Amino acid sequence: MESSMQVSNPKFTAIVGITWGDEGKGRMVDLLSPEGGVVVRYQGGNNAGHTVINEKGSFILNLLPSGILRNGTVNVMGPGMVIDIEHLAGEIGRLREKGIVITPDRLKISDRAAICMPCHVRQDVLEEERLGDNAYGSTRRGIAPVYGDKYMKKVLRMGDLLYPGTLEDKVRSQSQWKSRVLCGTYGEEVDADEMLAWLKKWGEPLVPFICDTGVVLEEAAKDGRPVLFEAQLGALRDIDYGIYPFTSSSSTIAAYAPIGAGVPARRLDETIGVLKAYSTCVGAGPFVVERNDEWADRLREAGHEYGAATGRPRRVGPFDAVAARYGARVQGADAIALTKLDVLSGMDEIPVCVAYDTPDGRLTEFVTGDLLNAATPVIEYLPGWTEDITDVRTWEDLPENARQYVTFIEEQTGVPVRYVSVGPERTQYLER
Ligand code: GDP
Repeated sequence: MESSMQVSNPKFTAIVGITWGDEGKGRMVDLLSPEGGVVVRYQGGNNAGHTVINEKGSFILNLLPSGILRNGTVNVMGPGMVIDIEHLAGEIGRLREKGIVITPDRLKISDRAAICMPCHVRQDVLEEERLGDNAYGSTRRGIAPVYGDKYMKKVLRMGDLLYPGTLEDKVRSQSQWKSRVLCGTYGEEVDADEMLAWLKKWGEPLVPFICDTGVVLEEAAKDGRPVLFEAQLGALRDIDYGIYPFTSSSSTIAAYAPIGAGVPARRLDETIGVLKAYSTCVGAGPFVVERNDEWADRLREAGHEYGAATGRPRRVGPFDAVAARYGARVQGADAIALTKLDVLSGMDEIPVCVAYDTPDGRLTEFVTGDLLNAATPVIEYLPGWTEDITDVRTWEDLPENARQYVTFIEEQTGVPVRYVSVGPERTQYLER
């Protein structure tokens, strides 16, 4: 029997990141994906990756919802997403090589999602190069340019692929504008014929998957089938609430989930905030708890902290109660899924950040802008444990100090920890 069958799911649940991303959301979605239910990605593109390990193997998913690895789930890519169709074709192809064939009854792609094109990827690269030392640390997958163009009303959307007769006119008009923008800033142009050929090559096979995902989700809701909204990245990468401008370009917040999924009038029944037992951050921007020492190197190795999308070594540091409390608040987390507790095993004492020292004094609320840049962490130590906890499946069996650590996180965030993950495999968790 699959472990998720023991887990009861309310109707509309969001699974979101509380901090900088890479909290293990994919692993939690895979665990909680309800048999017969729907899993929806509602924002972002292929700029981040979820790693899911289960009995079929190890999978990195950048665009596809993590439920795609569960038989019997329908997976939706919502209107809030930006989709690089060439990358998506590659992802579908890699799953096929491992025997997972994705059919239109299992994958629904919103006709309203924006298409991330090679010109967006190119612009991302050119802009990071122009910024030099001040670069945003972009993953260079075109995400900021395509969201920018979306709000300029200049993108092609997945639904445009359904009408090949008018596609060429749209492409010529878009490329004319894009060429002027790119030429003025970077001295490069866009080739409309190449753009059209690219769209046809990668777009045509996706046509059977494209639909109004709102209809799919409303039907699921009517049938009483649970819907899981799966976020990419975390609260601190949200375009409005994150560490701007070192954020992503979309809303990673739970409140956006129904909008980005295609059911804007729906309310969430529950939000589960995924939180790592320590801090990691990919890319540039203020990261108050960052450490660059032997402790950090050991933690990075123990936790395999290298980006799923880029392979970049992640910046690491102790658990940051200030950031976690803020992230839990803006996400409206009802419960926490705490991941990677096993990685902390074997430390005599575990550092945790309980406040920030700033030019405005000692603060326990998260801040933004220059104050955040100037903040330094106030560190306390909790007692560690030596036992390997990867086989622990009940709260009672966790070592006393590990329980204390979890309780500390609950006190600091004000949110109950419902799931504790003690390893990457589907069954390596305990529920309280
Ligand atoms: P996401 O983007 O939030 O899904 O996170 P990532 O997939 O980038 O990172 C999570 C990584 O940690 C993946 O490689 C998971 O397999 C792994 N992982 C998740 N939960 C645990 C855990 O509790 N313990 C350990 N050791 N690894 C975990």
